[in-house]
Amino acid sequence: MTSIQPLEFNGSTFPIELRRNKRAKRIILRICPKDKAIRITLPQHMSVKKAEDFIHSHQKWIEQKLGLLTEEVSCTHLSLLGEKYTLKTDTLRRKAHICHKDRCIYLPKKSPTLALQKALITYAKSSLMDICNDAAESIGYKITGFSFRDTKSRWGSCSSQGKIMLSWRLILAPEDVARYVCFHEVCHLEHMNHSPAFWMLVASFDPNYKRNRKWLKENGNRLYGVI
Ligand SMILES: [Zn+2]
Repeated sequence: MTSIQPLEFNGSTFPIELRRNKRAKRIILRICPKDKAIRITLPQHMSVKKAEDFIHSHQKWIEQKLGLLTEEVSCTHLSLLGEKYTLKTDTLRRKAHICHKDRCIYLPKKSPTLALQKALITYAKSSLMDICNDAAESIGYKITGFSFRDTKSRWGSCSSQGKIMLSWRLILAPEDVARYVCFHEVCHLEHMNHSPAFWMLVASFDPNYKRNRKWLKENGNRLYGVI
């Protein structure tokens, strides 16, 4: 194992570990949340210089990920599907927990932002997948797979194979808005376009779709500043 210059970020030093792997075909970069190290796997004969260049060109991405590990959560409240939750630190916890009864989100002391993000993704999966599955079933389709991402360019997509991708950040939007995006993607199972027939089907699920669409256009950016 070779090591290269550690990365300085936000007043902390993050070690960079280099490993070589015969089977690796390209450089693989991983951030290890446990020991806050950056792990780089290099193909057998690639130069260390290439790894350094790679880190340099991905510095922004790395810093964003490291930020999640080091940053304190900056807000005290979060709105999930339009319901207000209070954020509290619970030193005994190792994972974040969303308590719907108390309307509280309990966060661990260590890496609270990362823990919060994980809990939000889990919540997004549990609530949005049901909405999509029910809607699909009602028009005689079956969704073949889901993925939840943090996309900047779109809130959702639907492939011709019936796979639906949604941004987990929809959980931070009002419930009607999140539901609209689910309906929108489900309607693509029937119409792979934005034809009048497509919008008629969307309207059959959500008569207020125009309002919800407008909300996303005008306020969607705000869902990124929160966490
Ligand atoms: Zn669409």
